[in-house]
Amino acid sequence: MPDTAQHHDVLIVGGGNAGTSLAARLLCDGAPDVAVIESRQVHRYRPLLSYVGGGEASMSSLSRPADSVVPDGCTTLRDEVVSVDPASRSVLTGSGRRFTCTTLVVCPGLDEDWDATPGLGEAYDAGWAGSTFDDDTAARVWPALRGLRSGRVVFTVPPEPAPCGATALKPLFMACDHWRRAEVLEDVEVHLVLPGAAPLGLDGPDARIEEALASYDVRVHRGAAVARLDGRSVTLATPAGEEVVEDVAFAHVVPHYRAPRWVVEAGLAGAHPVGLVDVDPQTMRHRRFPDVWSLGDVADLRTRPSGGALRKQVAVLAPNILAARLDRPLEHYDGYTVMPITTARHRLMLVEVDRDGRPRPTVPFIDLSRPRAVTWWVDRYALPQVYWRRILRGRV
Ligand SMILES: Cc1cc2nc3c(=O)[nH]c(=O)nc-3n(C[C@H](O)[C@H](O)[C@H](O)COP(=O)(O)OP(=O)(O)OC[C@H]3O[C@@H](n4cnc5c(N)ncnc54)[C@H](O)[C@@H]3O)c2cc1C
Repeated sequence: MPDTAQHHDVLIVGGGNAGTSLAARLLCDGAPDVAVIESRQVHRYRPLLSYVGGGEASMSSLSRPADSVVPDGCTTLRDEVVSVDPASRSVLTGSGRRFTCTTLVVCPGLDEDWDATPGLGEAYDAGWAGSTFDDDTAARVWPALRGLRSGRVVFTVPPEPAPCGATALKPLFMACDHWRRAEVLEDVEVHLVLPGAAPLGLDGPDARIEEALASYDVRVHRGAAVARLDGRSVTLATPAGEEVVEDVAFAHVVPHYRAPRWVVEAGLAGAHPVGLVDVDPQTMRHRRFPDVWSLGDVADLRTRPSGGALRKQVAVLAPNILAARLDRPLEHYDGYTVMPITTARHRLMLVEVDRDGRPRPTVPFIDLSRPRAVTWWVDRYALPQVYWRRILRGRV
């Protein structure tokens, strides 16, 4: 490593939800030197993308300049990491700068795996497909669905790992409710492609989701995936063989996800098929590089990734970094995660579980997994404020 490398005590790769909230928490706890490398100029509160897809929010309402969310005292490096050497804890960026550190935290999120769904990129470009999971096409989803009076529509839930994949159901339910109110639901043929046999694989919440799907007469393809898109057709790979859904008016098909390639090239991945960072899921410490840690969507934490999960991950990882330096016992993350799902335009069920699927409700005396208007309001209006004002400032 050349002498010109700039050194930081804690270096965080990725200034999204995970990296920014961890940096803020470390600084609140007294860490003297925290730097974040982030390539984007705009920071987005991604959970609101679902509401953009339901006509309940705009892209501008969820976007802020990335510089405006940098925690006080944090060094920001606006650059793209292209390679990492975990053994020497050194990082190379696209502009040719090198950084070294005492502790490295890897949280660049997930990348879309466009190759996994042939024809998806072309269908997005052609305008008859799009998704709330894609910043470039999210704003097109509601205009495409709102005006529909008849025809065929396909929605998918992506396989894990995905950024809160279950929220792919939100635009489906918001659109179905809209069509019902507009008295055209009978003329819209709605298809849902599920990777598993049930929406979540959790008995209680699944019963409620199935009830909502049945009430809107949604045709559910289980254990299925989109094999390809071409023309206006969506070909599904199902347990019974290939099925073609033809003449599709709009396809809300979510890409599959994988870890960034440089994570795998750096030797940070383990046996996980899409290259997630190989950490101890309880402590979030890398299994082979003890000064490397990971959290967020890219970490192999044996739970479903979500922004809500990050509240708990940050609360464990920040003290663990300090404890490891002092040779003290490390705290454990139980895999807590959230799945907020709208079952109508203004009703939402909040599913909170640990990594074994056991309920982990934040509010124990009300069953938030029952669809309610108040939970919808909290998810749409209150949580974005908590995010900008408290989570990104390390105060939750
Ligand atoms: C449509 C949608 C709806 C969602 N709804 C919800 C919800 O309702 N509730 C919920 O809890 N969660 C939800 N989520 C999930 C939540 O947004 C993610 O779990 C969370 O953002 C993960 O944070 P992260 O920091 O790990 O990854 P990201 O938020 O993806 O941030 C990673 C950051 O790293 C940066 N980066 C990547 N590579 C590099 C590089 N090489 N160099 C420098 N910087 C890099 C990126 O620019 C990015 O800013 C949703 C996500 C989506 C997409």
